[in-house]
Amino acid sequence: MSLRRRPYNFAPGPATLPEPVLRQAAEDMLDWQGCGMGVMEMSHRGREFISIAAAAEADLRELLAVPPQFRILFMQGGGLGENAIVPMNLSRGGQVDFVVTGSWSLKSSREAQRYADVHVAASNQAERHTTVPAPASWQLRQDTRYVHLCTNETIDGVEFHALPDLAALGCDAPLVIDCSSHILSRAIDWSKVGLAFAGAQKNVGIAGLTMVVVREDLLGHAMSICPSAFNYQTVAEAGSMFNTPPTYAIYIAGLVFRWLKAQGGIAAMEARNIAKARLLYDTLDASAFYVNRVARDGRSRMNVPFFLRDESLNEAFLAGAKERGLLQLKGHKSVGGMRASIYNAMPLDGVQALVDHLNDFARRHG
Ligand code: PMP
Repeated sequence: MSLRRRPYNFAPGPATLPEPVLRQAAEDMLDWQGCGMGVMEMSHRGREFISIAAAAEADLRELLAVPPQFRILFMQGGGLGENAIVPMNLSRGGQVDFVVTGSWSLKSSREAQRYADVHVAASNQAERHTTVPAPASWQLRQDTRYVHLCTNETIDGVEFHALPDLAALGCDAPLVIDCSSHILSRAIDWSKVGLAFAGAQKNVGIAGLTMVVVREDLLGHAMSICPSAFNYQTVAEAGSMFNTPPTYAIYIAGLVFRWLKAQGGIAAMEARNIAKARLLYDTLDASAFYVNRVARDGRSRMNVPFFLRDESLNEAFLAGAKERGLLQLKGHKSVGGMRASIYNAMPLDGVQALVDHLNDFARRHG
């Protein structure tokens, strides 16, 4: 095997995975722990896979300190699937309130309109998704069935650094968070959350797995149109095995959970993520060559969109990055410019390599 390091991949998702996880998966590919089968070839009801899924669930619970009154579900359908699955399970066709802070929460609010009476309680659309609206300004309705936030907007680079306390705002509805692009990058205060969902393909593993953590009292309220395979109660009662779960994606997530525990868990990961984000934002802020438009208190530690002030240099910037082994830095088409996604699996060295490119490129073209 070549000893040259792999390039640093800044893709927003599917995204870079920890190298030890990929190596373990390669080792297990043909034969998992001597059972004669690869994980992709196993029955989801067999002893081997059941042990893989149980360990993954237990490790996720431990890493995120999920309290016992919450169930962990391994589902399919992704974040966009959850945009329909959540209202079908929690809205009972009634009122639901959304806080729009970027492309994903906007999309969620639109999908929910098919199932519920949607109200946008706050929006940063007038600021082009660059701010976090202060919870005290949210116009929440008395009878809302839940309040939806996207706690990290992957495209816009806007992150909630504290969860709102809905009870303190006079709202007793549960908070639903789409934490797809920063789950496991920081702790979650479960006392403020009713349901959290996340696709695995950014900060956890590969596409195909959606993790749902839901408070038990929210189970059992699905609308009759809700497909059985997407009814949280049905999935919970079957231990996430009502239908065939995404077995390989669960296995990879399990390897990532083990890797995270070996790294020191979420507190250690969060400290590392803070250091990585600080290095990158400080470099962008210190240069007249680059700009980041997100308000400082809402800047994401995971997804860092930025612009070259002279956008005619974009292609040269990306080509130079690629030459140095820095991949997938082009921004989302709706925002433009660049975006560096620096999830858990991106080491500080990768961010330092990007910072070196930012500085060298600015020096050469400034
Ligand atoms: N929510 C967020 C925050 C996301 O970043 C994404 C994917 N980029 C989605 C939802 C949609 O996920 P999926 O494509 O898995 O449906």
